[in-house]
Amino acid sequence: MQHVEVPVSKPKKKELLLKLEAASINPVDWKMQKGMLRPLLPCRLPYIPVTDVAGVVVEVGSGVNGFKVGDEVVAMRNPFSGGGLAEYAVASVKLAVRRPPGVSAADGTGLPIAAGTALQSLRSIGARFDSTSGSKPLNVLVTAASGGVGHYAVQLAKLAGLHVMATCGARNAELVRGLGADEVLDYRTPEGAAMRSPSGRRYDGVVHCTVGVGWPAFEPLLSASGKVVDITASFSAVLTAARHRVTFARKWLVPLLLWPNRVDMEFLVGLVKDGKLKTVVDSRSSLRDVSEAWEKSIGGHATEKIIVEMEGLSGR
Ligand code: NAP
Repeated sequence: MQHVEVPVSKPKKKELLLKLEAASINPVDWKMQKGMLRPLLPCRLPYIPVTDVAGVVVEVGSGVNGFKVGDEVVAMRNPFSGGGLAEYAVASVKLAVRRPPGVSAADGTGLPIAAGTALQSLRSIGARFDSTSGSKPLNVLVTAASGGVGHYAVQLAKLAGLHVMATCGARNAELVRGLGADEVLDYRTPEGAAMRSPSGRRYDGVVHCTVGVGWPAFEPLLSASGKVVDITASFSAVLTAARHRVTFARKWLVPLLLWPNRVDMEFLVGLVKDGKLKTVVDSRSSLRDVSEAWEKSIGGHATEKIIVEMEGLSGR
């Protein structure tokens, strides 16, 4: 990865040109660089990585309604074109939402992939976020609760009224408890590796955010119709999921791939604005020093979100 100068893009129909304030790194960004998503991504090189951004609208393309120059927004770039680690980026209005006062660029840019995935995983195990209906009081397990996805999953699960058991490293246990987890286990201990709820609860759902733990480990921990949502599904997990589907298994595993959409982004930004959800920041770096942030994400030990703040590269 290297810094380069390229012309600033012009926004096309239904697009916004943003002067970026912040971007957040997700594991998918460096997985692309390592070739782990070939032959799908990246579809073209050179490639400017990162999709999740926050910035100010400096130009609007034709046919844009609801945005004007000067609006502060959170946006998600299409992973096929990337472009977030830059001073300027174009965003489609389909994946851009206004950022209200009180929601900082760092708060906002953490949301699209990580909080979006947490939200869709929880919905898929039956969590409800409309205050009128209330959720059935489900017991959920969130693995890697100290990570980007996991820390939002814990908070969102509590908002939906669920009982949360979480796994993370010992150094993050207090932080995860502070986000609302009812029970926390250190994944490096035998108890944590077993993931059994200390209060003896069986899980109605699991939001599985790490690798190296397979279906056989979860199966005995689930309630009669418990569901494991695997956001890091391996080939064998996909086969297990297919077997569960064709045999109409009651306990089942479901691989989940984020379906980015504006409605969810608006919902999540609204929760941050109302003080119901927060982005916990692992570290902030400048675009100039982005390689440190990049390496940190590759290391797999980030505590919540890694944020890059744009200040331009002049004087480099
Ligand atoms: P992340 O922020 O890099 O996760 C790092 C955290 O995971 C660290 O705090 C680490 O704790 C913890 N951790 C690592 N191994 C663990 C284990 N065995 N048990 C408990 N905690 C563990 O990653 P992320 O952004 O949350 O993403 C998680 C995974 O989901 C990635 O593989 C990502 O590619 C994938 N993902 C998939 C989708 C999708 O659409 N399917 C969307 C988003 C993310 P320590 O530092 O203590 O080790």
